[in-house]
Amino acid sequence: MANRVYNFSAGPSMLPEEVLKKAAAEMLDYEGTGMSVNEMSHRSKAFEKINNDAQANLRTLLSIPDEYDVLFVQGGGTLAFAMIPLNLMTGSGKADYNITGQWAEKAYKEAQKFGDVRAIASSKDDKFTYIPKFTAGDLRPDIDYVHVTWNNTIYGTHYASVPDTGGRTLVTDMSSSILSEKIDVSKFGCIYAGSQKNIAPAGLTIIIVRKDLVGKAGENIPTYLDFKIHAENDSLYNTPPAWCIYIAGEVFKHLLERGGVEEMERVNREKAGKLYAYIDGSKLYRAPAAAEDRSLMNVVFVTGNEELDKKFVAEAKAEGLDQLSGHRSIGGMRASIYNAMPPAGVDKLIGFMRKFEKENS
Ligand SMILES: *Cc1c(COP(=O)(O)O)cnc(C)c1O
Repeated sequence: MANRVYNFSAGPSMLPEEVLKKAAAEMLDYEGTGMSVNEMSHRSKAFEKINNDAQANLRTLLSIPDEYDVLFVQGGGTLAFAMIPLNLMTGSGKADYNITGQWAEKAYKEAQKFGDVRAIASSKDDKFTYIPKFTAGDLRPDIDYVHVTWNNTIYGTHYASVPDTGGRTLVTDMSSSILSEKIDVSKFGCIYAGSQKNIAPAGLTIIIVRKDLVGKAGENIPTYLDFKIHAENDSLYNTPPAWCIYIAGEVFKHLLERGGVEEMERVNREKAGKLYAYIDGSKLYRAPAAAEDRSLMNVVFVTGNEELDKKFVAEAKAEGLDQLSGHRSIGGMRASIYNAMPPAGVDKLIGFMRKFEKENS
């Protein structure tokens, strides 16, 4: 028996045990092909089916309308920070970004290399503990798009609802929240997400983009970065991250079997709700994120005493509650509770927090 811990890492993070077991069982012989997906031509019938099924199941899970392309590419969120302006900031050459954390800031700085990019607002002065609200009136009239980071992985904040952009194209980085709650894809021009938080191993980036926004890149865009190339080739223009697409596909099937995104959202609200309720009721812990902006995926909390935080993380690890330290830039604790974190992991964490509070107050 494997001795598995509850892994609260922000990413790469836990994958469903059922999926890992299936992948292990199929490692030497995938469905009678006599080889692993790792060894398989991406032009083979078997892989073509893996690729098509993964896309179809993702479309079902998120109810992605037909007017959207789904692209499987590489480069993580970080390369997407450049792909977005290169593909979409090609009309007026302007875009507005809301600065809600380090990832939002990185996306904003990357986009500035390619055009006239402005910050709408920033919560940096308050250590990104909230999402600065904006209205359509705060946006420049002629921008190509507005960019928001849906879930701020490091600070534990997220958008609780879709901001009103007055009809302007909305682009969002959903790296750490995709498939955790229901979203209305039709409200977005483009949604992108790296795989390693809530989907699969690192190495795959999912891009969901409205078809009328594809094919607008300038002539000098590097071939790989052009959305059109991937859209026209079913994401098989060049060798894809085949293993990641296979695991992502297995995770999608697993989510469908569990009741889809709606059921995930119910469970995620329950998990996060319990944890926040415990933190709010305790004397030792505090969650710095503004209550209305709290993330369902990354729960950030502190004791207010750095030494005690360190002790907490070490003692939790000894009990099989691993990777609970906060991001190196802010310290404290962070429990990342993505889809694959079972409710029992959250219950065990709360039990430990209660015991630690008793022993240290
Ligand atoms: C992790 C993360 C990224 C960075 O992804 P890479 O794949 O490491 O480039 C970008 N945005 C958000 C919101 C993230 O959580």
